Amino acid sequence: MPSRHADGHLYIDGAWRPSTSGRFADVEEKATGARIGRYALGDATDVDQAVAAARAAQPGWAALSAPERAGYLRRMAEHLQGRYDELVTLSMRETGGVRAKGEDEVSTTIRQLGISAVQATENAGEILPPYKAGKLSLSRVVPLGVLGIITPWNYPMNLAMRAVAPGLAFGNTVVLKPAELTPIIGGQVLAEAAEAAGLPPGVLNVVTGDGPGAGWPLATHDGLDLIDFTGSRKVGLDIAASAAATLRPIRLELGGDNAFLVLADADVDLAASLAMVASLEFQGQTCISSSRHIVVRDVAEEYIAAVTRRVEALRVGDPLSGEADLGPLISTAQRDRVHQTIVEPSIAMGAKLVAGGTYDGLFYRPTVLTGVTPDMPAFTEEIFGPVVPITVVDTEEEAVALTNGYPMLMNSVFTADLMRGMQVAERLQAGEVHVNDAHARHGAENQMPGFTRRQWIGVQRTPLDVPAWTADPAGRQ
Ligand code: NAD
Repeated sequence: MPSRHADGHLYIDGAWRPSTSGRFADVEEKATGARIGRYALGDATDVDQAVAAARAAQPGWAALSAPERAGYLRRMAEHLQGRYDELVTLSMRETGGVRAKGEDEVSTTIRQLGISAVQATENAGEILPPYKAGKLSLSRVVPLGVLGIITPWNYPMNLAMRAVAPGLAFGNTVVLKPAELTPIIGGQVLAEAAEAAGLPPGVLNVVTGDGPGAGWPLATHDGLDLIDFTGSRKVGLDIAASAAATLRPIRLELGGDNAFLVLADADVDLAASLAMVASLEFQGQTCISSSRHIVVRDVAEEYIAAVTRRVEALRVGDPLSGEADLGPLISTAQRDRVHQTIVEPSIAMGAKLVAGGTYDGLFYRPTVLTGVTPDMPAFTEEIFGPVVPITVVDTEEEAVALTNGYPMLMNSVFTADLMRGMQVAERLQAGEVHVNDAHARHGAENQMPGFTRRQWIGVQRTPLDVPAWTADPAGRQ
C-alpha cells in the first residue's frame, strides 16, 4: 500500500499536499472493484506550481556531477527493490495484470534506473576530429531543461520511468502526470522513491489527475522545454495540433495497429503459441499487441484450429488467485470499446466468432474472429483487448500489401525461411519486426533518443557466393 503521505496527495517541490481544489478520487483494484487508494485531482493551478518548482530546481540539479545524479537514481532503485514483492502485488491489483506482468513491470523499472545512471556517466560528449588546423572541436551533452511527462495505464511504472530516469540522469527536472486509472504505481510510488532517495525538492514532481483536468494543462504548458507523451493517437493528435501553433517541442509515443504475418511455410504451432503472447498478453492491452493476423491460405485452416484450441484453454480470472492466464480489462469503458466498437460491428459485417466474445464484468473471454476483412474495425483499429482477428490472404505479396498503410509499432513474421522473413520484414513499415518471435524487446528501457548506447549489427540479406572449396566433399564430383 502507498504511504499515508502519498495517498490522495500530489508531490510538488519535495512535499506531499492535497490538490488546490481539495478534490480526489478512488483507485480501484481492477479484478474486484475494491478501493486500494486515492489520488488527488490536480488541475492547472497545481500544474503551474509543479512546473515552477521544476524550473527553480533545474539549474542546481544540472550543476551536480553525473555520478552524483546517478547516485540518487541508484537510491531510488534500491528503494523500489526493497519493496519489490509489495509493488508486484500492487501492480497486479492496480492494472489487472498477472504476476509475470507485474514482475516485468517492477523489474524493468528498477533496471531502467540503473541503465540511466550508467548512461549519464558515460555520455558526456566527445572530442571531434579537428576540421581546421589549430582548432579543437567537441560536443557535450546538455539537458533540455524541464520535462513534462504524461503516461498511460498499461505499464504505468516502467513507461513513466522510461522517460523519467534518463530525463533526471542527464540533468533535467520533471513534472509527471500518470494515468488516472493507475496513479499509485504510475506516480505516487515513484514520488515515494524520490523522497526516500533524498532527491532535492522540485527535481521530480508528480501531479495526479485526469486527462482534461491535469494532462491538458501540462501538455500545453509554455514553461516546459519538452512534453513527452505516451498514450492514444487521439490525445497525441490533440497535443501535436496544439504544439504546432507555438512550435512547442513534443515527443509522442502512440498506439499502432500491429500485424502478425503467418506465411505458407510457417511453423504453425510456434506461430499459434506466440499469437497468444502477441495478442493476449495483459489482455491485449499493450501498444505492441498484434491487432491483425494475416495468414496465407495454405496454412490458414491449421492456424485457426491451433489458435482456437489454445484460446479456449485459457483461464480468465483474478490475477491474485495465481490461476489466471488473463486478468480483467482495465475499465468498463475499455471493455465497451472492445466489445461494442470492434467485436460486435465486425461480426455484424460478416466476421465469424470462433471463440470468446462474451464477458462477465471486466473479465473478457479471449476471442477469435475469422473471416476478418480489411474494411472491418477488427482490422482497421488498434484493438487494445484480448482479440485475435484473422484475415486470410492468397499470397505473401498480398499479406505485405495489406499490412502496410497503418501506424505500426511492432510486427511479427512467421516463416521457416529466415532469409525470406528478413526480406518481408524489410518491406513492412513498422518500427520493429520480429521473425518467428513476438513481443521481443530489444530493451525498451534503452531506447530513449539521445540517451542510448549504440550497438552495430550486421545481417547478410542476400545469399553469399560460397567459394567452391567450401562445399560438402560428399557432394563433389
Ligand atoms: P490516453 O491517451 O487516453 O491517456 C494517456 C495519458 O494521457 C493519461 O495520463 C491521460 O490522463 C492523459 N490524457 C488524456 N486526455 C488528455 C488530454 N486531453 N490532454 C493531455 N493528457 C491527456 O491513453 P491510454 O488509454 O491511457 O493508453 C492506451 C494508449 O496508449 C494506446 O493507444 C496504446 O497503444 C498507447 N501506448 C503507447 C505506448 C508506446 O510506447 N508507443 C506504450 C503504451 C501505450
